[in-house]
Amino acid sequence: MPPETSGQMVACWARIRARLRDEVGEVEYRTWLRQMTLQGIDGDEAVILLPTRFLRDWVNSHYGDRLRALWQAEDANVRRVEIRVAQAATAEPVMADGAGMASSRPEPSGLAESLAPAPRPPAEPRTSDPRSDWVVPLEARFTFDTFVVGKPNEFAHACARRVAERPASPGFNPLFLYGGVGLGKTHLMHAIAWAIREGETARTVAYMSAEKFMYRFIAALRSQSTMEFKETLRAVDVLMIDDLQFLIGKDNTQEEFFHTFNALVDQGKQIVVSSDKPPSDLAGIEDRLRTRLGCGMVADLHATTYELRLSILQAKAAAAQVLVPPKVMELLATKITSNVRELEGALNRLVAHANLFGRPITVDSAHEVLHDVLRAHEKRVSIEEIQRKVAEHYNLRLTDMVSARRARNVARPRQVAMYLAKQLTQRSLPEIGRRFGNRDHTTVMHAVSRVSELIAQDASFAEDVALLRKMLET
Ligand code: ADP
Ligand code: MG
Repeated sequence: MPPETSGQMVACWARIRARLRDEVGEVEYRTWLRQMTLQGIDGDEAVILLPTRFLRDWVNSHYGDRLRALWQAEDANVRRVEIRVAQAATAEPVMADGAGMASSRPEPSGLAESLAPAPRPPAEPRTSDPRSDWVVPLEARFTFDTFVVGKPNEFAHACARRVAERPASPGFNPLFLYGGVGLGKTHLMHAIAWAIREGETARTVAYMSAEKFMYRFIAALRSQSTMEFKETLRAVDVLMIDDLQFLIGKDNTQEEFFHTFNALVDQGKQIVVSSDKPPSDLAGIEDRLRTRLGCGMVADLHATTYELRLSILQAKAAAAQVLVPPKVMELLATKITSNVRELEGALNRLVAHANLFGRPITVDSAHEVLHDVLRAHEKRVSIEEIQRKVAEHYNLRLTDMVSARRARNVARPRQVAMYLAKQLTQRSLPEIGRRFGNRDHTTVMHAVSRVSELIAQDASFAEDVALLRKMLET
């Protein structure tokens, strides 16, 4: 779907900037690109604003093509990107969505930046509406609609839905979400916030990272405005604190959070907290706070499964409207197992690359583009491990792998082990030869080609080798 509605446009724009930021790096991004705002889409042209002519020219000449390619990846209807100097009078962003109230944001989405019309001077005093500093913009694409549910996250997802539908229900307050990085904690929190904001009852939702909470609190202490700090926070209907583990060891901030927490819960307000560990493992958090954190609903996001990774890839490819062959998705889902963020990053890179060069995504291009990522995720297998597994599998002794015996029942498995050593390790042929009882590299070469031939000819042999390979790789 082309981004007709402003919500979609905001989401596309956020993704484009996130990608650009990944590509060019933080420093360059901040220097040149951070002040870009999207004015809108005019026919087949995306109009981007920058505050000065210098910046406009620079961005145009250095990033113009890239911006166009990234837009095209998001929306094929956009064929051109026009960069203009923002007039002071047109500084109002076209699609502020009620979330664009905050002045800055620690996390990499950068939505705040795009929605903030003009850069503010860095040391600006507090604005007249203290709340504007509090409400951190939500990432447009972190909604329930875009969250893919599978075994590892279904419980956390159900709890989040429940809280979004009926905030502050008994048993669900606080909602404590925990799990490793990149598994969807922030996504779920934003989804709750979006759903509550869109709900019929008007409710104020404050979402911020624990770091931001601490930073605000310390700033309030310094400027002697802690009363204001307390009042502002205690006036919200839903308070969400992301990455609570950052409060570990920060005693004063914890104390303040504890009081806010109690005040809100007493008033029947909802609290949602995320962390990388369950409450019981949060060493360095005061006991009484830990106890309170654990007394609502504690839900964990487990590591992803192959099935969930595949569903996520399918959903993301469909949303981005790109054709990703099933084999490529299988490759990514098999290799990139660490977390969803990396999986998403890999897919984005493939799409960007395909767009840039106008070539379809294939297994080969995936290997080429994601060379580094795939390698980093490759499990390191040692030759010794290969020898052991192969010997076990064929009922031989480990010494048979290095012995001079040439009987077929020993020689063939040895060849299989050499073949696997070549496939699964970075070792050179002479090195592999040496590790197999000081054999010559031509022996290894011969083994590799012999096993390849047999794999092509003999299905049951092929299955055997595939099985061994799988055992070694996982
Ligand atoms: P965390 O806060 O746990 O570190 P995030 O919520 O930031 O992780 O998720 C990292 C990325 O992965 C985000 O872009 C998010 O949209 C995506 N993601 C995580 N889980 C899912 C899911 N189940 N479905 C779709 N996207 C997901
Ligand atoms: Mg997070």
